[in-house]
Amino acid sequence: MKEDLRKSEQLRTVSELAASVAHEVRNPMTVARGFVQLMQSSSSLTNSEKKYLQLTISEIDRAQHIISDYLNLAKPKDPSFKTISVSHALDEVRHTIQAYALMNNVSVFLDVPSGLKIRGEEKEFMQVLLNLCKNGIEAMPDGGKLFLTAALAGSTVRIGITDTGTGMTNEQVRQLGRAYYTTKDKGTGLGLMVSFTIIRSWGGQIDVKSEPGNGTVFTIILPAESADEPLHPDYEKQTAETV
Ligand code: ADP
Ligand code: MG
Repeated sequence: MKEDLRKSEQLRTVSELAASVAHEVRNPMTVARGFVQLMQSSSSLTNSEKKYLQLTISEIDRAQHIISDYLNLAKPKDPSFKTISVSHALDEVRHTIQAYALMNNVSVFLDVPSGLKIRGEEKEFMQVLLNLCKNGIEAMPDGGKLFLTAALAGSTVRIGITDTGTGMTNEQVRQLGRAYYTTKDKGTGLGLMVSFTIIRSWGGQIDVKSEPGNGTVFTIILPAESADEPLHPDYEKQTAETV
């Protein structure tokens, strides 16, 4: 028991350290990328030099994608569990993905009743939602629709992220969540592994329904925060903000 506690403390320290390292590493990489880009505009480059610079940029981009899929935490995370308003979180997600959706000709539709609550770590929840929305948008190379929905089902909250994209075969669906499984040129294959792990560790699950050519529905199923539980101090503040 004591040993378990020690292990979980160690794990927490390691993940906090990883998050702050990711944050610190992002800035120098952005600077390095900028200088490589500047060098690209030189007129005296040979063809192979141009190729090497382009490769450098795409490798930096790859490293940055790994960081954003794996540890997309603006700051070292505060590992505290909170009551999270689902409509509030989905509103924020819509805001965050708006530019990316627009760039890809994707319209985003939100149908989420207020008042649904779950318990979790806010930044991790945002990371899961962003990973699923990003995948949905990336599955619609010719544009399409992304629906964000949520509903209470018995004692659970079901959050749906539905796209009208390429869809997947059963064989592809079975691969989801395997580390490094990706079908994209610049993919990391980490987004779903991280998302599945987070939701499972909160006692929930992510269901996938997909049909090739017809799009995909990802459903996050989590225990609904019950009203009988003692209210967390943040609860009232959040409710006041979202009503
Ligand atoms: P990445 O996005 O970097 O490839 P993910 O773990 O996020 O890694 O996704 C793994 C793979 O699952 C993707 O490369 C894609 O093949 C498939 N996938 C995930 N979401 C969808 C979706 N909404 N529609 C179609 N395929 C998807
Ligand atoms: Mg992804």
